[in-house]
Amino acid sequence: MSPPAKTHLHTDISDNQAPSRETRTSYIEAVRMLGAVVVGIGTAGWVRIRDMLAPEPGSLAEKLNVRGFISRRSLDPQQGVSQISIEEAVSRDDIHVAFICTENVLHEDNVSAFLQAGKHVCVEYPMTTNYKAAVELWDLAQKKGVILHEEHIELLTEDYKALRREVEGKILQEGTLHFTGGALKPGFGFPAFSGIARLTWLVELFGELSVTVATMEEDPANNYSKMTAKLLTSDNRPLTWIEERGPGLPRAKNINFHFDSCTLTQIPPAPRGNVGLFMQDLIHFSAKLEGQVSVEELRREKIRVLHCLQLAERIQQLC
Ligand code: NAD
Repeated sequence: MSPPAKTHLHTDISDNQAPSRETRTSYIEAVRMLGAVVVGIGTAGWVRIRDMLAPEPGSLAEKLNVRGFISRRSLDPQQGVSQISIEEAVSRDDIHVAFICTENVLHEDNVSAFLQAGKHVCVEYPMTTNYKAAVELWDLAQKKGVILHEEHIELLTEDYKALRREVEGKILQEGTLHFTGGALKPGFGFPAFSGIARLTWLVELFGELSVTVATMEEDPANNYSKMTAKLLTSDNRPLTWIEERGPGLPRAKNINFHFDSCTLTQIPPAPRGNVGLFMQDLIHFSAKLEGQVSVEELRREKIRVLHCLQLAERIQQLC
């Protein structure tokens, strides 16, 4: 299924012919031609609904029209949007897009159901909790001719952009990224998958990686876990990724990157951007739906996503 033909809201309405409110509403209706559903009403699902109800003005996200949500619970309307069943969502012709915002272990089945039905899918990271399933989902998306997008808001943060600017042009000798955070609820999978955002930072900053050693300390009675993965860059430079979680641990990323010229021990402070992270992701996803993201960029993203999932799986095996 391909997205509907474009209409040009902003070029069709000239300044000296201001449209009536009704005309403008019908224009907006006409361009909002991609019906969407949100699956899973937690933090992320709630934000997805909010962002589609109030998209960034003038952005491609205005093309999305949220038509319902799906939940295992029986819920009242959320932000004015009604609950529908998954059976209804996959069979309706006016629903073209699904946002999968459940716990990680449920992503695979939900993504698969919507791709099978020929719907575009935006899935919150990580796409799956195993590599093989992600490859199969990508093959399925290709077969069905639809977009499969994995959200990676960590790459859209001002922190990340500032760090990237700092790292640019420097030659890494060795480094550590140590993440701490509160205990995760059940269903978020092995830490190498639930923490894929950190791994994605390392891959985007330092290129393709391999795993040499990985260990896991666990204290289930206290909901504590610490995963340590030893990685190597393609130049054989060592990188250590630590993912430590337990009740009361502050949410923080501690870095220690040694370069040929200097050492970086802090993520450079950066003010928040004006556009929310999920909104930025929504606009990027919408651009993909509109065919406005180049084939080369889509290919690079797919390679990076699959590489990270493969590394996560290798870490899990070694642990
Ligand atoms: P969440 O715990 O808020 O929600 C996860 C799931 O739990 C949802 O399916 C939701 O329907 C269900 N749920 C929530 N409250 C419930 C309740 N009271 N009873 C029964 N079920 C309930 O998790 P989240 O933060 O929304 O994460 C969802 C996905 O988004 C994950 O894949 C995560 O990795 C991803 N993600 C989240 C964020 C974020 O900032 N929250 C950022 C990036 C990616």
